[in-house]
Amino acid sequence: MNRQELEKIKQKALEEHIPIIMDDTLEVVDKILTEIKPRRILEIGTAVGYSAICFSEYLQQGGKIDTIERDEERIAEAKENIKKVEVEDKINIFSGDAVEILPTLNEKYDVVFIDAAKGKYPFFLKEALRMINENGVILADNILYKGYVMSDYNKHKQRTAVRNLREYIKEVTENPNIETEILEVGDGLAVSRINKS
Ligand code: SAH
Ligand code: MG
Repeated sequence: MNRQELEKIKQKALEEHIPIIMDDTLEVVDKILTEIKPRRILEIGTAVGYSAICFSEYLQQGGKIDTIERDEERIAEAKENIKKVEVEDKINIFSGDAVEILPTLNEKYDVVFIDAAKGKYPFFLKEALRMINENGVILADNILYKGYVMSDYNKHKQRTAVRNLREYIKEVTENPNIETEILEVGDGLAVSRINKS
């Protein structure tokens, strides 16, 4: 992995206000990936590939990341970035809306990283639960959405997003087969450990 290139990719994304994973969130995810040593990761929301590139370091030998993005320009840039750091063999991008693509997938994943349209988190969770391995982990970024989710703030124009993020938290907390922690890192990260069996 070319670290210098990765740093350039990060700086460019920050300059362009692309909402890449925040450093403290990445630190937590790094620890989880170190512990799990995943073979397969599913990411929903590629943007320019920054997080996928970071995660690719933790894959088992021969492991792979599937990542979904609907913005054509970002897909093109993600492909260039993945090439620059030489991890083409580890990352596969699905182009299109995750709402349409997810139901067509029939893989098993050790880790699912949800980081796309907040209004769709409950749907993404349903699809993640269908494909997650026993003892896998489902991560949801931006789960606290600037603090709106835990406040009584309901008038915001993003209230549909807030309602759906709350619904996501409710589902992962109430499901007896899932153990969830909501971490106040970055914009909030939900860490849900699955114990199906
Ligand atoms: N995971 C990236 C950041 C993703 S930003 C990183 O940390 O580096 C969120 C991305 O999700 C945006 O690029 C947006 O275009 C994409 N997105 C949002 N809703 C989507 C959907 N329904 N299907 C596919 N991509 C979506
Ligand atoms: Mg995010």
